[in-house]
Amino acid sequence: MMVEGLYTKREDGRKFDEVRPMKAKVGIVPSADGSASFETGKTKAIAVVRGPRTLHPQHMQNAQTGILRVSYGMMPFSVEDRIRPGPNRRSEEISKVTEWALSSVVDLSGFPNTVVDVFVQIPQADAGTRVAGINAAALALAHAGIPMKEMVSAIGVGKIDKTLVVDLNKYEDSIFHDGEGSTDIPVVMTSRTKEIALLQLDGKISVDEFKETIEMAKKACDDILKVQMDALKNVSEESNE
Ligand code: ADP
Repeated sequence: MMVEGLYTKREDGRKFDEVRPMKAKVGIVPSADGSASFETGKTKAIAVVRGPRTLHPQHMQNAQTGILRVSYGMMPFSVEDRIRPGPNRRSEEISKVTEWALSSVVDLSGFPNTVVDVFVQIPQADAGTRVAGINAAALALAHAGIPMKEMVSAIGVGKIDKTLVVDLNKYEDSIFHDGEGSTDIPVVMTSRTKEIALLQLDGKISVDEFKETIEMAKKACDDILKVQMDALKNVSEESNE
């Protein structure tokens, strides 16, 4: 049941539990080991995978397993105000949480002493870039043939005034009411065991509302998974032609 609040109509006309129009494509960078793009609305993410290859410097190697290394960045013109290029605290945090989320499904035990690099770039940002990046990265890893126990799908859910919503855009992410901003909860869900591989919470929410948003996220992740699987199927069909 949807909790009704002051935010009674979405700015872009979507239903409260509706994801923005999605698009996924696999194999966008032929020279890479794996690559993919994922879009929801105006947010677009590109992911490129390189590896596994021997990790240098040697003291960082793990003789039991390969390691995953993620680098996330927004392109300078991805938002209206130009962003200063290069790493910052936000991009470092998102790189790390993306790495954690993907590490829970990737199995690099067959590739000791190696690294798999995942580069996530955001050419267009309209909120939800970390989850779009994770959707693209999971596709790129699968495309690279990296062993994965299962797939992951990611979505942002949250609360605007008293209304629970799925896939907030930047306008919704920035709404303030009674001095409080909207609540943003990025969720990463595994495809088979339906475990939560990542959950962050920016804002305030009650326990009951939180449970409801997780149910909304689960449903959205099922839809995202279909888009991801279709994209993977299309590329394998193309390469068989
Ligand atoms: P996410 O993109 O995962 O939702 P945030 O909540 O940190 O992560 O950012 C929300 C949105 O705010 C971004 O998607 C982008 O549209 C915008 N944004 C983030 N950083 C900047 C920045 N430095 N300058 C302008 N807009 C930004």
